[in-house]
Amino acid sequence: MTSNLDFFAHARGATRRQRIGVTFYSGVLLVLVLLIGISGWSSYRDYSSSSALVRQNISALARSLEGYISSLLLQSYASMYVVADDLNATGVTSDQDTLEVLAKAMRYDPISAYLFVVRDDRALAVDNRGHPASEEFKALAGQFPLEVGERPIFGRVQRLPSSNNLYLPMLIGQRDAKGRIQRVGALIDADRIGELLRRLGLAAEMNAGMIDNDGMILYRMPEPSGYVGLPLPADSPLRKRLEIPRFAVVEGPSIDGSNTLFADAPSASFPIHAVVGQTTASFLIPWLKRTAFSAALLLISALAIGLAAWQLRLLIGEISQNGRFYRQLFTDINDGVLLIGVDGRVQAANQRAGQMFGVAAPEALIGMLPSELSPKFQPDGRLSLIASRANLGNLLSGAQRQVDCEWQFLRRDNQQPLDCEAHATLFRWQNNTLLMLVLHDITERKRYLAEQEYLASHDSLTGLPNRYWLVRDIEQRIANRPEQRFAVLLLDMNRFKEVNDTLGHQHGDAVLQEVGKRLGGWLRTQDADIARLGGDEMAIVTSHLLDEVAITGLCQGVGQVLGQPLLAGGIQIELAASIGVASYPEHGDNPGDLLRCADIAMYQAKNSRRDFVLYQRSDDNYTPERLAMHTGLGRAIREGGLHLHFQPKVRLSDRQVVGFEALLRWDHPERGMVPPSEFIPLAESTELIHPLTHWVLNEALRQLRQWSERGLGTCMAINISANNLRNPHFVSELQALLNEHQVAAELIELEVTEGTLLEDPEMALRSLQAIRDLGVTLSIDDFGTGYSSLAYLKRLPVQVLKIDRTFVSAMTSNFSDAMIVQSTVALGHNFGMQVVAEGVEDAATAEALERLGCDIAQGYYFSRPMSADQVTTWRLQRQLEALDIG
Ligand code: C2E
Ligand code: CA
Ligand code: CA
Repeated sequence: MTSNLDFFAHARGATRRQRIGVTFYSGVLLVLVLLIGISGWSSYRDYSSSSALVRQNISALARSLEGYISSLLLQSYASMYVVADDLNATGVTSDQDTLEVLAKAMRYDPISAYLFVVRDDRALAVDNRGHPASEEFKALAGQFPLEVGERPIFGRVQRLPSSNNLYLPMLIGQRDAKGRIQRVGALIDADRIGELLRRLGLAAEMNAGMIDNDGMILYRMPEPSGYVGLPLPADSPLRKRLEIPRFAVVEGPSIDGSNTLFADAPSASFPIHAVVGQTTASFLIPWLKRTAFSAALLLISALAIGLAAWQLRLLIGEISQNGRFYRQLFTDINDGVLLIGVDGRVQAANQRAGQMFGVAAPEALIGMLPSELSPKFQPDGRLSLIASRANLGNLLSGAQRQVDCEWQFLRRDNQQPLDCEAHATLFRWQNNTLLMLVLHDITERKRYLAEQEYLASHDSLTGLPNRYWLVRDIEQRIANRPEQRFAVLLLDMNRFKEVNDTLGHQHGDAVLQEVGKRLGGWLRTQDADIARLGGDEMAIVTSHLLDEVAITGLCQGVGQVLGQPLLAGGIQIELAASIGVASYPEHGDNPGDLLRCADIAMYQAKNSRRDFVLYQRSDDNYTPERLAMHTGLGRAIREGGLHLHFQPKVRLSDRQVVGFEALLRWDHPERGMVPPSEFIPLAESTELIHPLTHWVLNEALRQLRQWSERGLGTCMAINISANNLRNPHFVSELQALLNEHQVAAELIELEVTEGTLLEDPEMALRSLQAIRDLGVTLSIDDFGTGYSSLAYLKRLPVQVLKIDRTFVSAMTSNFSDAMIVQSTVALGHNFGMQVVAEGVEDAATAEALERLGCDIAQGYYFSRPMSADQVTTWRLQRQLEALDIG
């Protein structure tokens, strides 16, 4: 079988093609020569057989003619002989007696037309009835020279004066009784011969007749009168035969000029020849016609054969061209081609396959199984041996017409993987069933794709997988093992901005790299995956440790890893993170939901300053109830469902009211009074915060204006959200409202919570500066809950620090809270700020704050937040009390 495939392996085509060409052309030539030979031969046979037929024919005719003539002549000769004998024996000399002798002889002669005796130039003759007819012979007598001879001679055939018939004179000579020479003769009716020839049926192209030994034409058909008595022409072939007493057929010109075949039958008894001739043209022309016809046929068949041969040649040329083309495809194609037998082994391989497999020559692959050229397992985990057999089986059984797949081979030289796109089809070659395996090398493409894939799915800074990877990983976990629970931990470093801001981004990056390395290393030991989502945010996915205790352990572990001291820019820092945890399938069945839940939990952890929070649906803003609330809030803003309450701010040194804080109230149609802590975060998480703040500002300024018009001038602190600072129109809107209500900017104080300020410090700084430029006072609300660095605080254009009420309310009972309040007061004063304490619920706290030097206090101890009407009453009452006291 292998030898057949040499076609693909070696370029032996040229000599083989030459050999085929030579064989082909000599074959065609041979057929043509044979055809011409056979046709020539049959034509020759035709000629000779038709000429033989003519010869036979004329020979038979000539012989019968000769026999007939001889028998006629013999009869007349006998009569002449009797006459001569009688005349001699009786010595008769008288004319009367002679005539009687003649008449007597005639009585027994049925042939001769006349019998006659010529002597002394006179002729005595009787006709065939015995009547004297001498008169007729007068002219005739002189024609015959008188000489003696027993051998008969023939005179010229001629007519008698009384008759139209032609007569052949035959004579013998003798001496009469007186010694005179006399002739005895007979006239034979030549038309008897003519009659015979007519009866024999002389064809048009034939002639027949009689000549004597001197070459004179005694008789001839056709046209006897035209020829008789004439000598044979000098070039007549008969002339040479006159003395030859043998039958023969000769060819030559006839007296009428046409080339003729003559049958010459010399008479044994008389010096004459019977001759039958037939023009050669009579059979040559039909033969020529036949020959021309068969030659034409031959020519046509030769042409047809030639044409067929030419077509065949073209076809062969085409086929061999196809062959060359296929071979060229096989050898020159830039894909590897393996021809595999039904036994699964390589039968032939092209040059490119050899290169791809790293062997010296493609022949080195012959006899190998594809699985022997492959790694034990394919990248998809199948056994190469099983998979390749399955493919071969499918093709051989006809279950599949072709197989297209990706296949990994191993190079023979360096055992490196060779990734191919394989295309396999059944293929028949010279009665062999083969499998043609075309291999397109995609190793480089795969490597490139893997690289791209790595780049796309990994973070360039830390080398950790990125968000894209994380999303896909979660998707795959869910798709592959939907029943397997897992947890997603979202981790956000605390106060990482500070690192960036104090040490610069370069060191921030270095810190992140180190953190990534440490966390990655440790998490591997915990069988958990980590990804960096951006900034200082990372995510951890784990299928283990799913109960709360285990999660707590993992989060504490992360805290410990982060907490290990780290040197950045020459400074030792310790990091901490807030972690939100969501778990599959309880909190979502897709990456988006799980990450969102973890994110919410993480923010809760941050806000509540816990290390980690497990997500709880009840804490989630994004529930249907929240959505309904959102719609309701929007309507409340538009339709007047909101109110402002006001809580007084009291100067501790003299207990004077120095201003009010505006606090928002929502009078919900179903739920009654809804506290701001329930709807402000919701508004902040949407665009609703902007119209809401606008409404608050407008209402607070309107109120302030009204009070001042009534001579109750005061200051107003208004809470704004960090989101408002992000609104580029906020400052101009504020300006417009101040103008509208004719309120001096100095009477306005805007409170921003510390935590929200830290989310985007640069932006906050810019906006605060713009607000400050209007003349508005700025205050940091809930101070102490965030992690503002001193450096950052110093840069902010803020005039008031508001200590968060969690510290204030506990300061009388909790020492550390008291310390925080004390240091905050000191810090604020250090920076030239006013310090406000909120959440003052009792006199002790107020006094303690006063002792600590706190400037202003606010809390239930002084007053709960009140409606505008209540404020009027409250202020009046206080004035009265003061008067009382006074
Ligand atoms: P905040 O700015 O810290 O406001 C002070 C909160 O403490 C008010 O709660 C007030 O009623 C409460 N409070 C005052 N004195 C005491 C006290 O002695 N003891 C205790 N336990 N609490 C006291 P409220 O009115 O429920 O407001 C909650 C938060 O809602 C505010 O905290 C503020 O951050 C936000 N908020 C209120 N109104 C607005 C507003 O118009 N705009 C924005 N953006 N936020 C607002
Ligand atoms: Ca406030
Ligand atoms: Ca506060």
